[in-house]
Amino acid sequence: MSEATFMGVPREKIPWFPTIDYDRCCFCMECDRFCPHQVFERQEGSERKLIVAHRNNCVVFCRACAKACGPDAITFPEKPAIVAMIKMIRQQADEQLSPASPVPPVFAVPQDYLEVAHDKFLFKIPLVGFLFNENDVWTEVDAAGVRARIGISDFAQQQLTDISFVGLPSVGVEVDQFADAGYVESAKATLEVVSPVAGRVVAVNAALADAPETVNQDPYGAGWIAELQLRDFSVDRELLIDGAAYAEIVGKKADEYS
Ligand code: SF4
Ligand code: SF4
Repeated sequence: MSEATFMGVPREKIPWFPTIDYDRCCFCMECDRFCPHQVFERQEGSERKLIVAHRNNCVVFCRACAKACGPDAITFPEKPAIVAMIKMIRQQADEQLSPASPVPPVFAVPQDYLEVAHDKFLFKIPLVGFLFNENDVWTEVDAAGVRARIGISDFAQQQLTDISFVGLPSVGVEVDQFADAGYVESAKATLEVVSPVAGRVVAVNAALADAPETVNQDPYGAGWIAELQLRDFSVDRELLIDGAAYAEIVGKKADEYS
C-alpha cells in the first residue's frame, strides 16, 4: 500500500514513479511480479499489456523494478530534482504554519559533554541545554521557550551503527509526549523516535533525506530530526531527565547490551 505522505509531503505531490518505454518493453512482466506494491497493472487484450496504473503506490526513491528489467525499459525522474521539490514544498508549508514567528528559533550548539565510556565506545551527552527521555531521544528548547528540537542521542546512533534512512514526521501534525515522531533506520535496527515533548511539528530536517548519516556524525547538532511548537513544556519537563541522569541510564544500557 502507498504511504499518505513522504518526508511530510503528501505523496500525490511527489512525481516519483516508473515510466515504461514501450519501444523497449517486451512485456515479460518481470517488473509486475517483482513489485509488491501493485504499481503496475496487466491489460489483457490490449496492445500495451502492462501500464503504470497506481503511480502513488510506488515507494519514493525505490528503483528496484528498473534493475529487474532486462531491456532497460523503465526510467525514473532524477532524484536530486525530486529532493529539491520536496524541500521547496516543505519550506512553503513551514512558512505558512509560522506566520506569527518572524524571529527564527535559536538553538545553542552544545559545547561541553559528559562522556560515558564502555569497552571501546564513548557515548557523549551534552552537559547543558538538553533534556532526555529514557527512549534515547533528546530535546532542546529554543531561546524564546516556544519551540523545541528533538533528535536521537549519541548512544542511540552508535547502537544503530550506519544510519540509512530517517523517517520524518509530517509538518503540521500534533504529537503527544511519548508518541512516535518518526523513526531512524540502519541495517541493524529501526528506532522509533519517541517524542520527549508535546506540540505541533513545525519543521523537519529535510537535509536528512540526502544525508541520513548526518545523525551518526552530529546527533545533537546537524542531525536534529524535527522542531515542535511546544504545547506546555512545564508539563513535559516533569517526565524528562537531565544529561547527568541520562548518563546513568546510558551506562546501565551499555552494560545490558554488552
Ligand atoms: S520488466 Fe521491463 S520489459 Fe518486462 S514488462 Fe516490465 S518494463 Fe517491460
Ligand atoms: S520502484 Fe519499487 S515500489 Fe516503485 S514500482 Fe518499482 S518495485 Fe514497485
